[in-house]
Amino acid sequence: MQDLTEGVARFQRDVYPAKAELFARLAATHRPTTLFIGCSDARVVPELITQSEPGELFVIRTAGNLVPAHAPGPDGVAASIEYAVAVLGVTDIVVCGHSACGAMTALAESHDLSAAPAIAGWLRFADASVARAAADGPDVAALVRENVRAQLANLATHPSVARALAANAVTLRGWVYDIPSGTVEELDATGRTAPLAA
Ligand SMILES: [Zn+2]
Repeated sequence: MQDLTEGVARFQRDVYPAKAELFARLAATHRPTTLFIGCSDARVVPELITQSEPGELFVIRTAGNLVPAHAPGPDGVAASIEYAVAVLGVTDIVVCGHSACGAMTALAESHDLSAAPAIAGWLRFADASVARAAADGPDVAALVRENVRAQLANLATHPSVARALAANAVTLRGWVYDIPSGTVEELDATGRTAPLAA
């Protein structure tokens, strides 16, 4: 906790004053252009990877960057998606998977999750990803890619996203971030990947 306290002190002393104009504008304005859906993994930091400033990314992070398909009933992920798309009007949605994902590794390698029922239950939302990747055997990287594709499909089942897609008002993108190299690959519709930036 001491590290965090020191971090807050350093933010107030060094960082905040240097961006005072930005923060003054943000005090009354919230107009992000991108909804970024990533894994909760501490190594995957959306603003760092994309070099975004405060106010630019609306971020949802879940274990395994999973986006459950639309279903009736209260759902925090669904509410955040709807807010970003229907209220804030983001024009891009990125689903970003990553290398060495704990959630995808547990699924690809069939880890015993009987002692972690909440995790086991949540990861059921990746059933389709697992089924699609099964042909590749226990390959974590293949599952990470299939999972991003599956979550893009799930996203499109949310009414706010479906409406925005029908109006050509939003673009969905699938990314995979590779921790050891720092590269980001973009998936095309067929699941092939290409480096996002050279
Ligand atoms: Zn992960």
